[in-house]
Amino acid sequence: MLKKFIVLFICFGIAVNPLLSQTWSIVLHGGAGNMKAENFTREQLDEYRNELKNALSIGVEILKSGGSSLDAVEQVVRYLEDCPLFNAGKGAVFTHEGRNELDAAIMDGKTLKAGSVAGVTRVKNPITLARRVMEASPHVMLSGNGAVEFARTQGIEIVDSSYFFTPQRWNDLQRMLSREKMGTVGCVALDIHGNLAAATSTGGMTNKRWGRIGDAPIIGAGTYANNSTCAVSATGHGEYFIRYTVAHDISALMEYQNLSLNAAAEKLIMGKLLKAGGFGGVIAVDRKGNISMIKNTSGMFRAFARSDGSSSVEIF
Ligand code: ASP
Repeated sequence: MLKKFIVLFICFGIAVNPLLSQTWSIVLHGGAGNMKAENFTREQLDEYRNELKNALSIGVEILKSGGSSLDAVEQVVRYLEDCPLFNAGKGAVFTHEGRNELDAAIMDGKTLKAGSVAGVTRVKNPITLARRVMEASPHVMLSGNGAVEFARTQGIEIVDSSYFFTPQRWNDLQRMLSREKMGTVGCVALDIHGNLAAATSTGGMTNKRWGRIGDAPIIGAGTYANNSTCAVSATGHGEYFIRYTVAHDISALMEYQNLSLNAAAEKLIMGKLLKAGGFGGVIAVDRKGNISMIKNTSGMFRAFARSDGSSSVEIF
């Protein structure tokens, strides 16, 4: 009798609150690279893990309380942009000329609307500007001074370019460490309403020049979301991710060839890209909440959490 009552009670709960039967998932990355544990101190690794955990918990809270995947990915990426450890916002790498030129993109899997900014120099949180491009402009992608002008009309925080100065990144440039590519940030999420979203933000690659733009702000290359397939955010050698339209290709393999998220992501990262010499990885989530955090490098700062209670923070 009691058993029957409990079953009835649960069924009734799900019927009156359809949200209870639905799942959420979130994955984030803080960049990929061929890094080794022995090159970090234990304190440094703990610091990275803590910041990834803090960022993850911001997204989890939003999704758990019924918020949108779009809000979750924007807020997670904003947090990582403000953290000097990562190559986005505050911790952005330097260009050849010693400047910081930031790229970011966001995409809404429900409407297939997207917004991106490229080569912006004085915007504290490029991901929020990208969202504003999506929601408050008739365009998808804005660049350079024009993007900053638009930011002003939107009341978005503008900072002096000295804000982006961090000694660590400056030393990277001075040493011309062209290997120092990791630290881009990204987040993908599925919310309980069944909507997917993706966001990516980066300073690009150390020592870049001539107004180089990477894959992060290019919809379909480093960032993509589509409710009927998946949401993807990439990190790695951007030129390859652009040429192989990695994020959209993963979605297309799912859409046209019925591949699973994992099979599609593996085909791109461990197949096409690796063969071409393109290093990096992606984080992705599909419409059922399955996730992928695949990389062809030794390391990728990454973390995930799902409504089934599983979660982890990983580096190598
Ligand atoms: N994909 C970024 C770019 O090429 C860099 C990175 O992810 O580390 O701009």
